[in-house]
Amino acid sequence: MVVGAGLAGLSAAMHLAGRGRQVTVVERDPHPGGRMGRADVNGYRLDTGPTVLTMPDIIDETFAALGETTSDRVHLDPVLPAYRASFADGTSLDVHTDPGVMAAEIERFAGPEEAAGYARMRQWLSKLYELEFNGFINANFDSPLSLLTPQLARLAAIGGFRRWEPMVRRFLSDERLLRVFTFQALYVGVPPRRALAAYAVIAYMDTVSGVYFPRGGMRALPDAMAAAAADAGVEFRYDAPVSALERSGSRVTAVRTVTGERIPADAVVLTTELPDTYRLLGRTPRRMVPLRPAPSAVVAHFGTRAPAQDTDGSHHTILFGDAWERTFDEIIDQGRPMADPSLLVTRPALGDPSVAPPGRDLLYVLAPAPNTDVGHRDWDADQDGYTSHMLDTVRERMPHLGDDAELLRVVTPRDWARQGMASGTPFALSHTFAQTGPFRPANTIRGIDNAVLAGSSTVPGVGIPTAIVSGRLAADRVTGAGSRTQPRVVTQ
Ligand SMILES: Cc1cc2nc3c(=O)[nH]c(=O)nc-3n(C[C@H](O)[C@H](O)[C@H](O)COP(=O)(O)OP(=O)(O)OC[C@H]3O[C@@H](n4cnc5c(N)ncnc54)[C@H](O)[C@@H]3O)c2cc1C
Repeated sequence: MVVGAGLAGLSAAMHLAGRGRQVTVVERDPHPGGRMGRADVNGYRLDTGPTVLTMPDIIDETFAALGETTSDRVHLDPVLPAYRASFADGTSLDVHTDPGVMAAEIERFAGPEEAAGYARMRQWLSKLYELEFNGFINANFDSPLSLLTPQLARLAAIGGFRRWEPMVRRFLSDERLLRVFTFQALYVGVPPRRALAAYAVIAYMDTVSGVYFPRGGMRALPDAMAAAAADAGVEFRYDAPVSALERSGSRVTAVRTVTGERIPADAVVLTTELPDTYRLLGRTPRRMVPLRPAPSAVVAHFGTRAPAQDTDGSHHTILFGDAWERTFDEIIDQGRPMADPSLLVTRPALGDPSVAPPGRDLLYVLAPAPNTDVGHRDWDADQDGYTSHMLDTVRERMPHLGDDAELLRVVTPRDWARQGMASGTPFALSHTFAQTGPFRPANTIRGIDNAVLAGSSTVPGVGIPTAIVSGRLAADRVTGAGSRTQPRVVTQ
């Protein structure tokens, strides 16, 4: 039994079904995907959650668990360039995953020394990934002691336990390039100067391994995973919120839904929000220090007139504001929206024109924002002002975009909280050292033998690839297997 048809739940179901288990997935929404969400508004097909899809080999491994290949079910088109980084001084850099093309782009942008530094940093990022994937990301931990392996010593030797930004400074000195290879620290909820260098693997994922876009929009991925699972015999119950788990001693014996159904279970994989998981299990977590939630985001979707001249569009653009360190302090520590915003602007219609009506363009604009634990802004009152400010920033920095704009949808930290997300953030727990690897809430629950956790709040952490890996780790716990795959590491 799997509770939740997000990426973690779908991955767990596919791996379990591939190992011959009979699986039922119980999902409160009418469709799969969870946070990889969808909304259809005025003829536009919106992706409401993630837009940067990396590490397709992890997706391949999940389809392979059912004897399938990804391309039988969904087309993942490479996004070229992976990003455009646009700076407040008017300069911009295209982030390419091909090493030669990227080195040439860096040389154009910042000179040959920085290009040589980039080549060395790319080797370092690839090494980090290679060491971390099997040693940490792709492994179940039974105790912090299980970390003490030669892998750990190797990771320490290459600087994994130093801080992210100082490590990148060893290779690059251009402040703009530094941002390109450290801004991902925001995803882990820690400023780059404080984040562990080990998390630079995220920079590996999106600047080295490549960014992809599923034809039909992000929803095409969970739809494909659910279809493959269903064809392999997995049963799906949609519109079925789980309200309780029945227990007998240390075992969960059945799942109850608000629709009054009782579904017996031999084992349960829970991908619910951590507080819901503990409530369902009747548990209070034992921790010395309180859990620290990640920052949140405001996501606004605008339908606009398609620009007439658009030969050089980029699927993802990061508009870096002038402010930098202050931005992290504002969001993470002070609980204030960014005074000088850095935004992610995604244009999915460049990858698949069918997501917008003819002649129209679709802008997904994400502004990092404080979670509701630290931030006390009245988003309901301020939402219109803030989204106008976001659109104005886009228009100012990308003058060919934003004509005849209609606001299609906006989600603020208040809305994420209303959707049941703890601390008003869709990014779960931040990845501080105390919430990493064996120190993150484990995927097993003490005293309950047949319930396993998966998803962003447990190991390995937040994001599309990690949620998918967490489903496999949960399946390993259920079946007692430890299938290790070798990572595909891109260096050249
Ligand atoms: C705005 C946004 C942008 C993001 N951007 C990126 C990005 O660009 N790249 C990236 O890699 N990651 C990104 N992420 C993170 C990524 O989307 C998530 O980490 C990942 O999708 C989480 O998957 P999950 O299966 O753990 O959780 P979920 O997707 O939340 O799945 C949990 C499922 O359980 C269901 N459920 C919950 N409670 C119950 C219940 N009681 N009964 C039945 N069902 C229940 C939910 O409906 C849901 O379907 C983003 C997330 C958001 C929201």
